[in-house]
Amino acid sequence: MKTHPLDHISRLLDNAASAAGRPSPRLLAVSKTQPADAVAGLAALGQRAFGENYVQEAAAKIAELAQAEPGTPALEWHLIGHLQSNKAREAAALFDWVQTVDRTKLVAALARHRDPARGPLNVLVQVNIDDEASKHGCRPEDVEGLAATIAREPMLRLRGLMVIPIPHDDPELGRPAFRRSRALFDAMRARYPQVDTLSMGMSGDAAIAISEGATMVRIGTALFGARARREETQAPPFYTGR
Ligand SMILES: *Cc1c(COP(=O)(O)O)cnc(C)c1O
Repeated sequence: MKTHPLDHISRLLDNAASAAGRPSPRLLAVSKTQPADAVAGLAALGQRAFGENYVQEAAAKIAELAQAEPGTPALEWHLIGHLQSNKAREAAALFDWVQTVDRTKLVAALARHRDPARGPLNVLVQVNIDDEASKHGCRPEDVEGLAATIAREPMLRLRGLMVIPIPHDDPELGRPAFRRSRALFDAMRARYPQVDTLSMGMSGDAAIAISEGATMVRIGTALFGARARREETQAPPFYTGR
């Protein structure tokens, strides 16, 4: 019997964590561009948390899965792509987590549209840790203010930080950015006891991110194979096959 990539990845994550003397991170399966049945396949193996980049794509997939597998354990959906303010209502209704909160305007919109019956929406502050002019995410010096704004909203639950550092051909070169992220996370956690999530590391650099203290890694390519369209992965794969 062939071992599923999920088992390999889980083992690699566990090994990276134990080598660094850290707890194993949560695995977020990044299912963007993947069909609903690929999600169902991983869900059948026990994977619960899935990440999507586009609200529209996620809405279709979530609806399809709900119809295909009624009564199966609920999946946990994370938005990991940039969120436009005019999509905040839909995002607040669809997702369990929004990892890309990077401005005050979004905080109010998400809080206003969250249905109280669903409980608070989990949110991460996305930080532009490499200070790239063109990327999303707030500046490191703005994290504290944004966190305070989120913490004041009863319908939002501040859970931590998310970062997407610049990709490097040699993932080791990303280590300083992960280390700076962990320091910001520790500062946030010292102020807010409910903060428990540092989302960093993808297929190409998960091991480095874990050794620097990631508590959640977002893995697409290494679980599902290369994506056919939209995104190219710049980093080398963390897992390259059997
Ligand atoms: C696509 C994506 C990932 C997963 O990337 P892989 O290299 O396929 O593992 C993780 N995080 C974000 C924000 C993404 O857009």
